[in-house]
Amino acid sequence: PYVGPSAADILAKRRKFLSPSLFHFYGKPLHLVDGMKQYLFDVEGRRYLDAFGGIATVCCGHCHPEVVKAIIEQTCRLQHATILYLNAAITNFAEALASKMPGNLKVVFFTNSGTEANELAMMMARLYTGCHDMISLRNSYHGNAAGTMGATGQRVWKFNIVQTGVHHALNPDPYRGIFGSDGEKYAKDIEEVIEFGTSGRVAGFISEAIQGVGGIVELAPGYLPAVYSSIKKAGGLTIADEVQCGFARAGSHFWGFESQGVVPDIVTMAKGIGNGIPLGAVVTTPEVAEVLTQHSYFNTFGGNPVCTAAGLAVLNVIEKEKLQENAHLVGFHLKRRLSLLMDKYEVIGDVRGRGLILGVELVKDRKLKTPAKDEASRVMEIMKDKGVLIGRGGIYSNVFRITPPLCFTKDDADYLVDVMDYALSKV
Ligand code: PMP
Repeated sequence: PYVGPSAADILAKRRKFLSPSLFHFYGKPLHLVDGMKQYLFDVEGRRYLDAFGGIATVCCGHCHPEVVKAIIEQTCRLQHATILYLNAAITNFAEALASKMPGNLKVVFFTNSGTEANELAMMMARLYTGCHDMISLRNSYHGNAAGTMGATGQRVWKFNIVQTGVHHALNPDPYRGIFGSDGEKYAKDIEEVIEFGTSGRVAGFISEAIQGVGGIVELAPGYLPAVYSSIKKAGGLTIADEVQCGFARAGSHFWGFESQGVVPDIVTMAKGIGNGIPLGAVVTTPEVAEVLTQHSYFNTFGGNPVCTAAGLAVLNVIEKEKLQENAHLVGFHLKRRLSLLMDKYEVIGDVRGRGLILGVELVKDRKLKTPAKDEASRVMEIMKDKGVLIGRGGIYSNVFRITPPLCFTKDDADYLVDVMDYALSKV
């Protein structure tokens, strides 16, 4: 049994000693104490099916024994800053990661977070090209430091501080965008941004292939090939932010960008790649990587032995347990079943995504697409009461984000849909 502070105590201390900007899900926030596979347990021992934590804890599921073992073993041997001495943990993981990348993406830089990874990627693009102007997408999320906050394309995550040199192009959103699913039409906007908003030369373009925070928006087909070609013509580099959609989650492919058939110049990743341990990475070509030799570049804990040992264990588990195939099969089944709910509930405007990164958008009116934010919040609350945790996102907070650990089973998927069905019937 749990011995420790009560939820009320924790909440009171949180309010007193932690950031006033912290928020939590649910009217009465969950007090979680244990995790195992796709399950979380609260202080009373109640079990929840975790259909959202996959973004933070990824594929292997909570407390995967092989990842935990790798972390403990490395912690007992040595934990240190990375760069000044030799240790095999970092090179082993870098080699394994490079083997998962297409093309000549072979050089890895490690960071502690997705923000740091994207900051570094954007800096490298700027150094490589000698240009400052970047292009990102409206509705994107890339981080919360000055550069990445600049690239982020959602008002709620931006503070009014200096964020220079990023142009936000039309979002190729098949559901809400003005050109529907015609990726090439949206790509024309990038040409116009370059033509009218820059000198004609740019540092680069950054995007997710499936926007996570933005509400699981899969970029319209045909978009990235056309945009990558325009960016190349303008001398820029292409950056794929795989922080949410990468690492086997998309199911059909290991990386989200592969679903559009492109190869970026720089790929960034974080969140789940350490299965809960802070770890981020930037992978690029030897030619682009060379820019960091212009000056000294150092990140104290980026790529430390404990985190990289965890990263390698995660890759091994994905392979051994065939988690990409699982994401593909279970995701396909889950998406089909969620789509069937649309016949029953007018409030579901759209079901989208691939693999185990799926979105369900609620609207008050299917024609006007008026966001149904309160309904989304009530459904989430009822689902929690029935033991299922999902996430929420999109600029109107009306999109369910379903991103479970990749060990999610078909039975879990069925349970989730049955519970969502019940919750929708009550709203
Ligand atoms: N990129 C994407 C696509 C993200 O979703 C996030 C986090 N929500 C980040 C970057 C930033 O990652 P971190 O919070 O680890 O800095």
